[in-house]
Amino acid sequence: MNGDQLSAFEKRRYARHLILPEVGVEGQRSLLSARVLCIGAGGLGSPVLMYLAAAGVGHIGLVEFDRVDESNLQRQIIHGQSDVGQFKGESARRKILEINPECHVEWINESLHKGNALDLVRRYDLVIDGTDNFPTRFLVNDACVMAGKPNVYGSIFRFEGQASVFAPTMGGPCYRCLFPEPPPPGAVPSCAEGGVLGVLPGIIGSIQANEAIKLIIGKGEPLINRLLVMDSLGMEFRILKIQRDPGCAMCGNHPTITELMEYTGYCSLPHHETDAVTDSSREGVSPLEISLEALRDQVMAPDCNTTILDVREPGEHAICHIEGARLVPLGRLAEALEGMDPSARYLVHCKSGKRSMEAVELMRARGFTQAWSVRGGIIAWAEEFDSSMTTY
Ligand SMILES: [Zn+2]
Repeated sequence: MNGDQLSAFEKRRYARHLILPEVGVEGQRSLLSARVLCIGAGGLGSPVLMYLAAAGVGHIGLVEFDRVDESNLQRQIIHGQSDVGQFKGESARRKILEINPECHVEWINESLHKGNALDLVRRYDLVIDGTDNFPTRFLVNDACVMAGKPNVYGSIFRFEGQASVFAPTMGGPCYRCLFPEPPPPGAVPSCAEGGVLGVLPGIIGSIQANEAIKLIIGKGEPLINRLLVMDSLGMEFRILKIQRDPGCAMCGNHPTITELMEYTGYCSLPHHETDAVTDSSREGVSPLEISLEALRDQVMAPDCNTTILDVREPGEHAICHIEGARLVPLGRLAEALEGMDPSARYLVHCKSGKRSMEAVELMRARGFTQAWSVRGGIIAWAEEFDSSMTTY
C-alpha cells in the first residue's frame, strides 16, 4: 500500500496514525471503510462515537431513540446543555460530524428489538454494546452471534466497569456463555437506582473504542477470552480468563436458541437513560429485594405509580418513619391487599428487611409482580441516608 491511496486531507488529518507502523496507510484505509454499529448514545456511546469518528471510522450506525435529559450530562459528554430535550441521535450525529465531517452517520431512531436487530447487525462489521439494560444486551449478543459479528461489550455500575469482546467466530465466548439468562427483573438495581461515577463510562467506553479499532485494523490482542474488570475507587484493573461454553444455548455446539427473543418485565426507565447495569446476581442478591437507593429515588422524586409500604407495627412507626410511607403492619397486609392495585409498584420496608421480605413473598403470590423488599430496612436507611433519624 502506498500513501496515494489517501487524499491530502486524509494524510494531514490522520498523520499521527499513519506514522504508527501498526496502523499506517493500510490500517487507516481499513478504518475509513469500516462500518461500526453502536447501540446507544449514552454514557458508553459518548466516548465510543467521538473516538471512532475522530479515528476516521467511515460509517457509523447509531441506534438511539431517547432524548437528552439534564441528568444525562454528568457522564454523556457527547451531549451538551443546549441539547437537553432533543433526540440523542440527532445531538450525537451533530457532534460526530463536527469532529469529522467525512464520517457517514446512520441514525436509527428506534429501540433495538427482535424485528430490526438482525438486519441492522448484518449491515455492519462489528457492534458496540453501549446498552443500559438486560433485554437489549441479550438481544445485541444474540443478534451478533447469529450474524457472526464481533460484539464489543462494556458495562458500568457505580464505580465498577467491565469490558470484553464477544466473538465466537474468533474462538471466544458470547455473553450468554457467562450469563445464560438475565437476572429476574428488579434483582439488580439500575444506574438510576444505584448511581454511576460520571467518568467511569468515559474509561470503559474508551476501552471499547480501542478494542473496536484493533479489530478493524487487525492488530494487537483483542479482549477475546478475557473479561476486563475495573474498579475506579481502588483503581485496579483485573483480567478474568473466560471461555466459550460448549453447552451455551446461543453459541454452543448444539444451540437451542435459534431465533431472537425479547425479555419482558424489566423497567426500561425510558425517561432517564440509565447506562448499563452489571450482573450482581452472582453475589446472591435476591430477586425480591431492591436497593436502598431505589427507595431514596422514590423519596426524592416520587413516582405516582409507586407506593412505599411500611410493614412494621404502629409503635415502631412512631419512633421513626420514612416520609410518604404508608403503614400496613405485616399482620394486616393480606386483608389490605384486596384494596390495592396489583399492577402498581411497591417498595416495601420494615426494620431490617426480614418482615418486608415476607410481605413481598405474599404480595408476589397474590399477583403483585412489582413489589420489592428494600434491603436492610429503615435501619440501613438511617445509616446510609438519614443520620438524624432516631432508630431503635
Ligand atoms: Zn455463548
